[in-house]
Parts: sequence; structure tokens; C-alpha cells
Amino acid sequence: HLTRLRLTEPHLRSFLHLPDDQTLLTQAHDLDRRIANGEEVGPLAGVLVAVKDNICTSDMPSTGGSRILENYRPPFDATAVKRVKELGGIVVGKTNLDEFGMGSTTEASAFQVTANPWDVSRVPGGSSGGSAAAVSARQCVVSLGSDTGGSVRQPASFCGVVGLKPTYGRVSRFGLMAYASSLDAIGCFGSSVADTGILLHAIAGHDRFDATSSKQEVPNFLSHFDSTSSLESKPLKGLRVGLIRETIEDGVDAGVVSTIRAAASHFEELGCSVNEVSLPSFSLGLPAYYILALSESSSNLSRYDGIRYGNQVYADELDSLYGDSRAKGLGSEVKMRILMGTYALSAGYYDAYYKRAQQVRTIIRNSFKEALDQYDILISPAAPSAAYKIGEKKNDPLAMYAGDIMTVNVNLAGLPALVLPCGFIENGTAGLPVGLQMIGAAFDEERPQSFINTCK
Ligand code: GLN
Repeated sequence: HLTRLRLTEPHLRSFLHLPDDQTLLTQAHDLDRRIANGEEVGPLAGVLVAVKDNICTSDMPSTGGSRILENYRPPFDATAVKRVKELGGIVVGKTNLDEFGMGSTTEASAFQVTANPWDVSRVPGGSSGGSAAAVSARQCVVSLGSDTGGSVRQPASFCGVVGLKPTYGRVSRFGLMAYASSLDAIGCFGSSVADTGILLHAIAGHDRFDATSSKQEVPNFLSHFDSTSSLESKPLKGLRVGLIRETIEDGVDAGVVSTIRAAASHFEELGCSVNEVSLPSFSLGLPAYYILALSESSSNLSRYDGIRYGNQVYADELDSLYGDSRAKGLGSEVKMRILMGTYALSAGYYDAYYKRAQQVRTIIRNSFKEALDQYDILISPAAPSAAYKIGEKKNDPLAMYAGDIMTVNVNLAGLPALVLPCGFIENGTAGLPVGLQMIGAAFDEERPQSFINTCK
């Protein structure tokens, strides 16, 4: 992995921080020694895990992709990172992202643009683009990302890897830099479902440092793994799959729709029943998400004031100190979102925007609940297109936001969803990967996982 990492990184720029090889090898040798001594090492022993740079690590910088936190080193590890380390995982480095998770391409990073390993002229998706590209190019084994509105699932789709957003509360958010606290989740990338399942198992579970983390028992996500099943044995017989109609209609790339339909037929061959299901509130997700996410972010990001964290621009007056530190430290996308969020929360507009968006959120949550009473999983594309060119949507934020249509509803409803590569769209000599999104009921991560583990 290290050889591959050094070879590919100049072309991909997945990482914002990489320790030198010796630091990593020392950790690996230490594990070897412990194994030789008969000591217990965890299930992640020696596994290289990349970590998105909005997840705190005490031994590496954690910038959130922002100048305001350039060179910031947190005094603690995020709970997810702590658990990875306790189980023997080696943190290989910190991956690039859109500043504070705000974006869908990784172009809104204050430091660099990451390239898609399938075609380096294209974006890897975002905001966890660095974590997705790193797994896709085998620069590491698995990686951690965060998903507020699709930031694990859309880059997994663009980079052709497995991406899992757990149920809200399944994984502690302690040490994840808050974007929109009611939507944020730490998620996992891997090159197989089994790998993401192992990583999720490592990081899931209650944490006293996050009051919203759940006390639900963490199952062994791989207990149904069956490597002997075959197409002929119809291993998925009886499972009810709902294909969300609104996600395969106008506005979705024709190549994406045909790939998803082919995946649906494959499920039928494996024994599932597949039916189209309508979620009439589906298109309301995007406006509701952007009101709520930006409102919450305008509040959460007030902590970057030049005093509590990170870089300061000194001024004699306190107001100028705040203002100048934020003016210099925060990027334009972040500033725009803070302004929009502040506007939506202001006294005169609160009812018209924020309150209404909360009501829409309830409608969306209920419609998913109804659909998931009828179906074991719901499927859809993970994004309306495959990866697009770097720069293509940079100056058209609304076009970029529209690309989140497939994923944001899942965060509003707090549900788990797994993205699995399911085919390619022709693109000259090479293909561009397309990801299938599978949405489960709350705390039912095990089902989509076991479900797919049986699909060869
Ligand atoms: N692209 C979405 C946004 O910009 C989702 C980001 C995320 O999940 N962090 O808000």
C-alpha cells in the first residue's frame, strides 16, 4: 500500500497530511512484535485506515479542509478514530474534503483538488472525495468519511467503491467537526461490503461523549455472510425490494437509469421481488435539506472565531478580531452558506423557511417509514450522473446542489444506506462507475449488508 500510495498520490492528491513511511512502519512492526509475543491484537491489526480531515486525530493535523484550522492539532482523538486505533488499525493519513464538508466535488477544499482515480480530469465527488479516492486507488484498505447529505455515498459512487452511511446515532460523532448536527454521520468506505462491515463494527456503538449516540446493540454485520450461495440457489428469495420511481425519472442520466434497472433485474434473478414504489415527497428533500443544513451550519460554525480554535488575525477591537479572522480563514462557499443559514433563521423568516423545512422533514420521514413497512430495502441510484469534469459545476452552485437529490432524503430520515458499485457508463476507453444506493430501516444496517454479501 505504501508503495502504491507514493506512486499515485502526486496524481490524485487524496491526502492533506501523510506521515512519513517510517512512522507507519514502526506501528506495523510494533504490532508484529505483539503478535509474536502472543498478545491479543484487534481485528484491524495492521490495516491502513485513511481518515477524513474533519475527524479529529491527536497525532496529526485536523483542518476540516479550512484555512482557519490550518496546522490545528486537536488534543484528542475522535471516538471513531480511538476505536480504530484500539483495534490495531493504523491511521495512514488525513484525507482531503470540501471545507467543513460543504460541497459535492472536493473542489471547495482550501488546499487542493483531488482527482478521480478512474479519470484524473474528473472530480472524485464530495465532500469525502479524498477518502473515496484513497480506497479506490488502493492507497489504503478502508477509510472514514462523513455524510451529512450524501458525502460518503456520492463519492463512493463516483469512485467505484462501497460506501456506507449508518443510521443517525449508530456511530459517535464525538470528534467529528459539526456541519449540521441533526444530519451528520461518520461513515465507512471499503473495496468490499465485508470490509465496510468490519470497519462499521469497529466504530459503532454508544459513546458517553455523544448524547445522540445510540445504545442499540451492535450486531455482527457479517453474520449472514455466505460465500457458497449461487445465482441458481436464489439466495435472496423472499426479500422485497422497492425501486424508488422518482429516482429513475427525467433529469437522471440515461446510462445511470439503465445500469440501475439492470441491477434491479439481477436482484430478481437472485430471488427478490422488485417493484417500483413512489415516494411523492422525494423532490422536497433537496430544498428542505439545504435550508436545514445551512441553518444548522450557521450556528455550528460560529465556533471558528479566531479565539477558541485555529488561526487568528489580531486586531485591537474584539469585533474586528472575529471579523478579520473569519474573513481570512473561511472560504467563499462556507461564507455563502453561513449567510444563507443566518437568513433562514432570522426572526422574520424563521417560520417561512426553517419551520417549514422541519415540517417537510417529518413528511419525508413518514413516507420512508411507510415504504419500509412494505419493502425490506429501497433502491435508487446514488447520484443522477457519473463523475463529471473538474471545474464543470464550480461556478454553478445550484447545479451542484441538485446532484445531491438521491442522497439528502436519507439523512433527513436518519436511515442507513449502502452504496455498491453496480456497473459502468461508457466513457471513451474507460468506463465511469455507477453506484446503487440501498436504503434500510433505522438500525437495520445488517440487512442490506447480509443481503449484498450473498450477491456474487
Ligand atoms: N453535498 C452536500 C452539501 O454540500 C452534502 C455534504 C455532506 O454530506 N457533508 O451539503
